[in-house]
Amino acid sequence: MITVKSLHHTFSIGKKGHERKVEVLKGINFHIQTGEIVAIVGKSGSGKSTLLQTIAGFMKPDSGSILVNNTEIAGFTEKQSAAFRLDHFGFIFQNFQLLPSQTVFENIELPLKLKGVSRAIREKKVAELLKKVGLTSVADHYPNELSGGQQQRVSIARAMITNPPIILADEPTGSLDSQTEQEILSLIRLLNKNENLTFVIITHDEEVASIADRQFRMTDGVLVGGMLHVI
Ligand code: ADP
Ligand code: MG
Repeated sequence: MITVKSLHHTFSIGKKGHERKVEVLKGINFHIQTGEIVAIVGKSGSGKSTLLQTIAGFMKPDSGSILVNNTEIAGFTEKQSAAFRLDHFGFIFQNFQLLPSQTVFENIELPLKLKGVSRAIREKKVAELLKKVGLTSVADHYPNELSGGQQQRVSIARAMITNPPIILADEPTGSLDSQTEQEILSLIRLLNKNENLTFVIITHDEEVASIADRQFRMTDGVLVGGMLHVI
């Protein structure tokens, strides 16, 4: 599903003329199979988000290969990345990133609108997903009327609305209390099982990582591990 080879990225930070180079991805290699939950675990600043951003095509790596379903995406233009992203990746973020002025329904249907899908099909798809994440009763509510756990369910539904095979999650439970965290992790496990959805979860939290089938460890721009984890 995803094969990453020799991925390198260096940031230039500081004022012009006084830049400092920080090598954040130092030759990353890994492979993720369809239907896996993989955790990429590491301390803050180890390069996890940078790795996810390059896989998602939001950021261009300096060099290396990223194959998704046998398509090389590392050299894509911004426009190609945006189109590829809509069909292949859903995103879940720590801070949910919902639009505050839009209802739950409107937040979830947005990716379908971007794809030009008709209103009738959008309504049907959103209703299906609201059911799957257990939010049917709050479809007309606004994000600030929901708990953190409910908001993250909305963002999971939004991530799934275009039927992407892969969900990329950056610290998906980082803003939640531990009970709500467990509920969201259970939902991720359920969706993985029922929908054969592949999840890549980035986290600094060992408890979150423990729900994964396999764990990779990111330390200072290097990724190690990936042994099968039996739950
Ligand atoms: P993590 O997600 O593991 O906390 P990040 O990938 O966010 O790590 O960051 C890794 C390193 O890269 C950090 O030292 C961070 O300061 C640096 N970094 C991240 N994004 C940028 C950027 N856009 N410009 C410059 N440096 C960056
Ligand atoms: Mg991060």
